[in-house]
Amino acid sequence: MAGPPAAWSNWAGNQHSTALVTERPRSVADVAGAVRRAADAGRSIRAVGSGHSFTATAVADGHRLDLAELETDVTVDVTRRLVTVPAGMTLHTLNDLLAGHGLAMPNLGDIDAQTIAGALSTGTHGTGAKLGCLSTFVTGLTLVTGTGEVLRCSADEHPDVFDAARVGLGAIGVLVEVTLRCVDAFVLRAHERPAALSDVLADLPGLYEPHDHAEFYWFPYTDRVQVKTNDRVPADDRPLPRWRGWLDDEFLSNTVFAGACCLGRAAPALAPRISAVSARALTERTYTGRSDRVFCTPRRVRFVEMEYGLPREALTEALTALRRIVDRMPFKVLFPVEVRFTAADDIWLSHSSGRDSAYIAVHQYVGMPYEPYFRAFEKVATELGGRPHWGKLHWRDAESLASAYPKFADFQALRTRLDPQNLFENPYLRQILGP
Ligand SMILES: Cc1cc2nc3c(=O)[nH]c(=O)nc-3n(C[C@H](O)[C@H](O)[C@H](O)COP(=O)(O)OP(=O)(O)OC[C@H]3O[C@@H](n4cnc5c(N)ncnc54)[C@H](O)[C@@H]3O)c2cc1C
Repeated sequence: MAGPPAAWSNWAGNQHSTALVTERPRSVADVAGAVRRAADAGRSIRAVGSGHSFTATAVADGHRLDLAELETDVTVDVTRRLVTVPAGMTLHTLNDLLAGHGLAMPNLGDIDAQTIAGALSTGTHGTGAKLGCLSTFVTGLTLVTGTGEVLRCSADEHPDVFDAARVGLGAIGVLVEVTLRCVDAFVLRAHERPAALSDVLADLPGLYEPHDHAEFYWFPYTDRVQVKTNDRVPADDRPLPRWRGWLDDEFLSNTVFAGACCLGRAAPALAPRISAVSARALTERTYTGRSDRVFCTPRRVRFVEMEYGLPREALTEALTALRRIVDRMPFKVLFPVEVRFTAADDIWLSHSSGRDSAYIAVHQYVGMPYEPYFRAFEKVATELGGRPHWGKLHWRDAESLASAYPKFADFQALRTRLDPQNLFENPYLRQILGP
């Protein structure tokens, strides 16, 4: 179960660590044992998911816990639409499991490679003005705390722990089992269309209110966006093939886009032209498919990313400022900017805690300069009350985050109670939560 030191790096390749010990527990008792062993050795211990965070949140320099082999009972209650699964399961496996029982996750993000625990711990979200982040679908969870105690929590059992642990940053315990509220399996009709940014911003509620899921990508140096809406249709709706799917998903979004990024990195002056050509290459299309297959697409072009959740009414001001930032940067920006929406929730450190949100995600192709761009936008977003995605790059510290979250101090106090020896600490947690 416990292995020798092994090097680790995240998906984007911008975070690295070599833990002294890697533990691969198979049972909840093994997890509790691993926590106690780390405590006895006076070392930190950190669970790692699929390594898809851009921040150093999963960096483990003491003991690393890999939960891929953790087995807990899988139970599917089709009538109540509740599923209980091991927390180290990937979203991809979960989606297939649910589909086999005629169920589905109510919403998902762009990919399904993350573990359930990893996705929940950073507040991973999709888009949908009336839907919360993935953590809002959790109805119960089991946690191994920093004292090795196994704690089951829900809205009725340890409700304070439940409100903190649903977006727990890996700071208050190791998630070992999660119960999720699902919905009947559904089919999505996707509609993608080019539009003018100015037209979209002129009537944002007209975009996100009528649709179950709405988002858009803005192409830097242009006034062009690609709008994407997904709406639920009956499961027996006549399927419309993802025609031109290979062209748009694989060729344009991955293969050609990779080539365009390489070209832009080698010859940055071409970036505005590449952005304009990319915007024009994507045309209108409609298709239907199983919900998770429409939500999630492969991402083969590597990038780094920062994403800010903002009060929804601040979106236009933030995007207007972002356009000015892009124009004045001493280097070019190659990646489109993604804009999404989520509904308010009651989870202490969820980005949408207490408010309906809009998200702006800025990216840069790996190997391109990004820090001045991201930092300039962070300044704007912070002034507008923005909250950084915990799994995506940012430079905020505990002092500046404390005023962004009404329940920040409660989270810190709970952390001290559940992890009195700071076993789960790493440098990223020190930055965002303080010592
Ligand atoms: C290509 C790509 C697309 C993405 N798309 C989206 C998107 O659409 N929406 C969005 O919101 N985000 C998105 N993300 C971000 C991603 O969802 C988050 O960073 C997520 O946390 C990654 O999950 P993971 O399993 O890789 O966890 P990791 O990155 O490995 O870990 C994340 C955190 O979870 C903790 N953790 C892991 N397992 C446990 C456990 N069992 N108990 C307690 N803590 C644990 C880790 O210690 C760490 O703090 C994307 C990232 C990439 C690279």
